Amino acid sequence: MTPLYRRDLLAALSGLAAFGAGTVDAWAKTPARKSVKKPAPRPRPKLIVLDPGHGGKDPGALGARGTREKTVVLLVARELQRQLQAGGRYRVMLTRTSDVFIPLRTRVARAESAKADLFLSLHADSHPDSDVRGASVYTLSEEASDREAAALAARENRADALGSLRLDRQSDSVVRTLVAMAQRGTVNDSRRLAEAMVEAFGRNGVRRLRRTHRRAGFAVLTSAEIPAALVELGYLSNSHDEKMLTVRQHQIHLARVLRAAVDAYFAADSATRKA
Ligand SMILES: [Zn+2]
Repeated sequence: MTPLYRRDLLAALSGLAAFGAGTVDAWAKTPARKSVKKPAPRPRPKLIVLDPGHGGKDPGALGARGTREKTVVLLVARELQRQLQAGGRYRVMLTRTSDVFIPLRTRVARAESAKADLFLSLHADSHPDSDVRGASVYTLSEEASDREAAALAARENRADALGSLRLDRQSDSVVRTLVAMAQRGTVNDSRRLAEAMVEAFGRNGVRRLRRTHRRAGFAVLTSAEIPAALVELGYLSNSHDEKMLTVRQHQIHLARVLRAAVDAYFAADSATRKA
């Protein structure tokens, strides 16, 4: 044994002894505990970023009875935040907590700098055909899954045109993000998140749009690091959906269903990690 090594070892041992003494002292104050079992390290609570769509000068969709998308999605986001935090398993951050305009890229940037584990953008849609109703879920894709998803992405992305950002580089950034997402597995995770939501809607009696999970180039979903989905909670252009979205009990129910989907997503996540 070299002297240097021995000195390090002795230093380490004395450190351990001091730590041990402290531990014994601490346990001595709690005589009820007999076996000194090292508690399993508590997993760091996951950080969920909820993104209530629109806000401020951008009201989003408008219902016939005057319901504003920006208002109902903030109410559902707040309720979902409350429910997610109640279990102690999640930390939750909202991209906006009041009626303010925030550019889409700023929302993404905030989630990235906070190192979010999940990004969920909440919206309510509008359709020229007032019979169309139901919830739907969207993930990022270069090619839209259908014309309606493409049109929706264009509508949702318009929010950035209200700010000072130009949209002509939009498709470039979608492609770049998708390549990075594929490398990191974020594409799969986002898809899994979307499927968990579709399933939770189905299981809990939330009416769904047919082909509930669709894909398009949403600017707000362009983080390479964070699994993300955009939910349209219903259609404000449909009188039934509009009424439901303003009913407090329905907002609470929607939040409950979304929380169940988030739980299912992370449960499957830790199961695959253990396997
Ligand atoms: Zn929207």
